[in-house]
Amino acid sequence: MTFTHTFAGNSLDRADTMRRDEAQIQAATDHHASLYLPLRKLNVLVNPAPSKSSATDSALQLCWLSQHQVAAANISVTPVLLGTRQDTAHFAIDVSELDDPTTALGLAEDCHFEDCRSAAMMLSADQSGIVAQSRSQIDWHRRHQFCSVCGKRTGSQKGGHVRRCPNCKSEHFPRTDPVAIMLIADGDRCLLGQSAGRLARTGMYSALAGFIDQGESIEEAVRREVGEEAGVQVADVRYHSSQPWPFPSSLMIGCHGRATSTEICMDKTEMADVRWFSRAEVDTALKGRNGDLKLPGPIAIAHHLIASWVAGDIEFA
Ligand SMILES: [Zn+2]
Repeated sequence: MTFTHTFAGNSLDRADTMRRDEAQIQAATDHHASLYLPLRKLNVLVNPAPSKSSATDSALQLCWLSQHQVAAANISVTPVLLGTRQDTAHFAIDVSELDDPTTALGLAEDCHFEDCRSAAMMLSADQSGIVAQSRSQIDWHRRHQFCSVCGKRTGSQKGGHVRRCPNCKSEHFPRTDPVAIMLIADGDRCLLGQSAGRLARTGMYSALAGFIDQGESIEEAVRREVGEEAGVQVADVRYHSSQPWPFPSSLMIGCHGRATSTEICMDKTEMADVRWFSRAEVDTALKGRNGDLKLPGPIAIAHHLIASWVAGDIEFA
């Protein structure tokens, strides 16, 4: 089964050939037809979609600016080349330095900067994918201004897909951090947890998750995280789907796993609660009819891992 998660589905051509040619990038940057997506303090510019009856049924759309609007604002930051669509270059640009972006960029009245997570819930999948690429790229440039080898200031090259150090010549590439997220089942029960931070505050239960270590496979990370957080042993691990999560640059790798032990021994530092829930309890909660069990919404891959298990789509031999 194929899923297009929120933050996936970006349909721009990532224009690898153009990225390698600085002259082409400069020509596209200055071209009157090029389009720019501004982000301010990592919030993205949106406006209402023309009609809710459109094919995507999205309430918002991305608000692209013309090359003329961006050039007039005299922004010092190098834009990031996202890609092309029908030969039109699309860039993301960090406009945080502008005190009054509405005036400086000549924004229309119905445009506003929206938190990327909230915006993604109201955009088409394609546009949420563009938001993921833009937010992760801009955030990476903000955090990697200096060379991690020699400490000198680095410069953006290849349309923002590398930062190069003029002193030691090191090249630094945008990073993606893999996270394993897994729904573990024991027959007709599944293991859900509440992390000690955000989930405990919201009262929500979700699939367990954790960053994959260096030198560790996805399957090993699933088994280790479940062992650490819940004390439960896992045998079979099956890949389900993945989701870019641009806060700041994770790739959620969704898996199902079969438990071979059931006694829970929770990590009390990381977790506020870990429990087994029956398929019936989870099914009722997914339908919004169980007030006691709150689960993540469809924006999160966890929702789809849970829903596909409840639907009986996941079988272990
Ligand atoms: Zn250096």
